[in-house]
Amino acid sequence: MGTPIELGRLFGVPVRVEVTVLLIAALFIFMGVGDNPTGQELLNQTTFVILLFVSIFLHEMGHAFGAWLFGIRTVDVTLSFFGGYARLDPPPRRAVEDIVVSFAGPATNLAIAGLLYLWLYNGGLTGLSDHTLVILARVMQANLFLGLLNLLPGHPLDGGHIARAVLGMFLPMTTARLIVGYIGVAVGFLFIGLDLTGGFGYGLMIGLLLVLVASQEIQAARSSRF
Ligand SMILES: [Zn+2]
Repeated sequence: MGTPIELGRLFGVPVRVEVTVLLIAALFIFMGVGDNPTGQELLNQTTFVILLFVSIFLHEMGHAFGAWLFGIRTVDVTLSFFGGYARLDPPPRRAVEDIVVSFAGPATNLAIAGLLYLWLYNGGLTGLSDHTLVILARVMQANLFLGLLNLLPGHPLDGGHIARAVLGMFLPMTTARLIVGYIGVAVGFLFIGLDLTGGFGYGLMIGLLLVLVASQEIQAARSSRF
């Protein structure tokens, strides 16, 4: 949505942000505080939302790192209204490439969650205010959530790529694509039903997008039979 703005490069990878990210960030900030938030609440929530987007960005850089292992170029990494995406050229072709590159994103979030857990609950962080500790605990939970959610085995989630590559080793690729497509539709409806992100229908929008993209994958897999 909109032309992304290039912020700079990290490890040679152009980093871009869609303007609509500001909109969704603002919604996350205002939905996360009470009706009459104090300055401190606003500051805490803003810090949390910034760290949430940093976590999404690191997820995409995880994909870029996985791609780099196979000599695949990352054209750019973009933060978008619906999270983020990394454009790879050429896209992973072999199953092992797809599995490693797809897993590297959620694995980054799980690693961040694990490190924060160790720091927070094993006395590694001293001298931090209660506010900071609460924010870091929320960032830990968010990363756990991002990691696990993206590993659900439905198209177009990372877990869908992994499941398709694994199933493709035993089944015809068309069948693997269909199975992962149907799981993607189911995951989309799960999102719509639970509205997991809490309030203002963001989970609903993500769910609808998943259903749409997974349905297209089912259609594409069906037509590739002929
Ligand atoms: Zn990912």
